[in-house]
Amino acid sequence: MTASREKPGPEDAGRELDELRARLKELTAEAAYNEAILKRTQARELSLLQADSLSQLLRAMVEGLKDSYGLDAVSVVLLDPQHEIRHLLVAGGERPDEFKQVFFVDSLVGLAPQLASLHKPWLGPYVGADHHLVFPGAANLRSAALVPLPRKDRATGALCFGSRDPSRFTRHHGSDFLAHLGAVAAVCIENAVNRARLLRAGITDFLTGWHNRRYLQQRLKEELARAQRCGGSIACLMIDIDRFKSINDGYGHLAGDNALKEVAQRVESQIRSMDTAARFGGDELAILLPEATAAEAAKLGERIRAAVAGAAFTLTAQVERSLTISVGVAAVSPTRNETDLKAVADRLLADADAALYRAKALGRNRVQIGTG
Ligand code: GH3
Ligand code: MG
Repeated sequence: MTASREKPGPEDAGRELDELRARLKELTAEAAYNEAILKRTQARELSLLQADSLSQLLRAMVEGLKDSYGLDAVSVVLLDPQHEIRHLLVAGGERPDEFKQVFFVDSLVGLAPQLASLHKPWLGPYVGADHHLVFPGAANLRSAALVPLPRKDRATGALCFGSRDPSRFTRHHGSDFLAHLGAVAAVCIENAVNRARLLRAGITDFLTGWHNRRYLQQRLKEELARAQRCGGSIACLMIDIDRFKSINDGYGHLAGDNALKEVAQRVESQIRSMDTAARFGGDELAILLPEATAAEAAKLGERIRAAVAGAAFTLTAQVERSLTISVGVAAVSPTRNETDLKAVADRLLADADAALYRAKALGRNRVQIGTG
């Protein structure tokens, strides 16, 4: 062993310094890279937090994350065993089948083996046999990340990211950013579902399960705007049960409630899916018929009248009784230069109500068309 080997010379010190400089450069680059990821992740999380509704949130998750992450496939799996989330979307005027990349499932078992016990993000190679169900229609995927949506220690679904780049998601990648994104997304979903529930509670009549007057008036404004754009008409049926008070007085309020529910069901069985039915108040129901004239609406009114009068109602276990309804019809075609749609809406409802009043005055159990 020589002394020169034991003591580092100036070349060694220089080499060490170069190595340190290189390492520092690496670390600086890594820190910059991590900061960029952090910023992008924060921006993505903000886009989820800012979504106004459940449908907007799901779109931000599927399309927004796909774009901003530069991914080839994104899907969202949501545990929805009671079909509540799906129904909330429908109540919000959405069609769940338009959310092709969102899966509403009864259980997380069965879609992909990793989903059954997903506690932290799973990153790895795309395997067709395992993953084709969560990425339907996506071709040539090579790697995937399955990120849990955790709430109270269990996954309520997953965000599924697919890439054609085999090195995009591997077991060696850190997954903290993804885990954080999943946690934020899960809270966003819970909030959006709660908001949609509240909104629905505010527009739903709890006895019939129908929409209430507030919702009908909102929808009427939207439908009038549409009729105005497209040059169409919109009709309204106002329905009131004849001598309903005598049911309450004779058999009790529970019997009255049953009768009201049954009338609502019979009405519902006659209307189209595009029509909006609402409990207008008390024993009064209203139906909005987009793209219908007064004559067409009156025909429907007659069918509904016959469906109610045609068979007895079971009011209690012992009591059956027949019931009739009176129906008022009105229609309107808003012109393009009409500026006050609220006034048009009020007039339509008032016309239908006046026609209903005439049907009552003429002896009930009949349909009358408003004179407008
Ligand atoms: P008409 O033929 O003139 O309509 O006679 P009617 O007895 O039906 O008179 P009206 O429509 O004015 O009375 C409605 C009754 O409906 C009065 C009210 O107590 C009752 N009612 C309103 N809401 C409910 C409800 O949710 N359940 C029950 N059981 N009764 C209700
Ligand atoms: Mg009545």
